Amino acid sequence: MRVRHKPWAKDLLNDHPEWVITSPHDYKGKWQQVFEKEQDLKIEIGTGKGQFLIRMAQAHPEVNFIGIEMISDVLVMALQKALDSQLPNLKFVRGDGQELTEMFEEDEVAGIYLNFSDPWPKKRHAKRRLTHKNFLQQYQTVMKENGQLIFKTDNQGLFEYSLMSLANYGMWLDEVSLDLHHADVGENIQTEYEEKFSRRGQRIYRLSAHFR
Ligand code: SAM
Repeated sequence: MRVRHKPWAKDLLNDHPEWVITSPHDYKGKWQQVFEKEQDLKIEIGTGKGQFLIRMAQAHPEVNFIGIEMISDVLVMALQKALDSQLPNLKFVRGDGQELTEMFEEDEVAGIYLNFSDPWPKKRHAKRRLTHKNFLQQYQTVMKENGQLIFKTDNQGLFEYSLMSLANYGMWLDEVSLDLHHADVGENIQTEYEEKFSRRGQRIYRLSAHFR
């Protein structure tokens, strides 16, 4: 994601520890303490500007949500939206999804969303794809039994790679949509990227899967 550098972003994030956790390793096994209610916890990795998670938190007050984003200049835009909405079931983490098992205890997470993840098309960068087996291992560790991984993208190559990666890992596919916006699939809360790409007429793919 290309974003303008905001020299004030880090300070603003640090000024709002009630919304943005910048030392997520300290909360491993204790995430429920940061929310008003103890209830299922679902996370989004690569949350970007936050639209998806804020709308999910509004639509599902019975779930706690955490959006993980590693770029401060992007996360600060999600924070600005969160300040407007003041939702009790939403937090953000500035951090890297590669460190998931250092942030969350086994079985602490009820669901994981990956939306329009960076495709990393070069083979030598495959390990950075959020559906690479190294990430799947971490998702399996932190996710509860029957927890779902839900992945959306406009990128056909990344979608095909992800289907293969999940299948090779032994995951069970619950749903596959090859044209989400023209399918009858129930709730679909759109992300910023999704709105942008679908306006351009691009097809949106989605899958959901579980480990056991
Ligand atoms: N999910 C948003 C959407 O659909 O509008 C943003 C999509 S953007 C293409 C991907 C985002 O994932 C970027 O903001 C990037 O910084 C973030 N990201 C990529 N790898 C990450 C990782 N390992 N940990 C946390 N964030 C990551």
